[in-house]
Amino acid sequence: MSTTAAALTVHEVTKTYPGGVTALHEVSLTVAEGELLAIVGPSGSGKSTLLHIMGTLERPSSGGVDIAGHGAAGLTDRQLSAVRARFLGFVFQHFHLIDGLDAAENVATGLLYAGVPRRRRRPRAEEALARVGLAHRTRHLPRQLSGGERQRVAIARALVNEPALVLADEPTGALDSANGQAVLELLVGLNAEGTTIAVITHDLDIAASLPRAVRLRDGRIASDTAGPTATTHVRGSA
Ligand code: ADP
Repeated sequence: MSTTAAALTVHEVTKTYPGGVTALHEVSLTVAEGELLAIVGPSGSGKSTLLHIMGTLERPSSGGVDIAGHGAAGLTDRQLSAVRARFLGFVFQHFHLIDGLDAAENVATGLLYAGVPRRRRRPRAEEALARVGLAHRTRHLPRQLSGGERQRVAIARALVNEPALVLADEPTGALDSANGQAVLELLVGLNAEGTTIAVITHDLDIAASLPRAVRLRDGRIASDTAGPTATTHVRGSA
């Protein structure tokens, strides 16, 4: 019997900002290896705060986060950066590519802190670009690429180090609907190949199209289509 390992676990996380706004109230969430899930909710529901805490970019006020079995609590900022570089990949709404670097060089920045020797970085980046359908664009600069292609470069950068989890923050938010749909289909395809992905979105249609949707409201999980109860139920009836 095999148990599915957790890519990331959030334990009873509360986050109160200076000034007193509590953005998350004892939120617990497990992302199993191999999942593709949406974290969805309206503006102000706590999505960005949860994303930042899952990504170890921000520390919780109480509770904790484990990434691929590594507890983030008690690590120094430097140790946290190392955990982030090794186990997490980030995709942003506005791509965040570096203008002066070509597509492969942009992707290779995802390997800078991973201890990959310089000569191995470009081949690894080119392989990652091939996985996102951009084998023919490795030497293009960001300004020579469409928005959809730029986001695919950013996805390749997130994948290149084979992270335990890719965190994608409104990945289709800056794209027209056709390119947005293509990026979503790419994420679904990468997940089918084994990549674990969490998509943060305000878009209920996107959330409904993914295998699991965790809905936030007022800093709490209002529903989870694959919550502990649902999972037990499915296993029990299998
Ligand atoms: P969402 O991403 O769903 O829009 P956020 O996590 O950005 O939600 O915000 C949740 C709540 O926390 C909101 O009430 C917001 O105003 C507050 N908040 C977010 N970031 C900060 C911050 N840096 N300082 C103070 N309050 C914040």
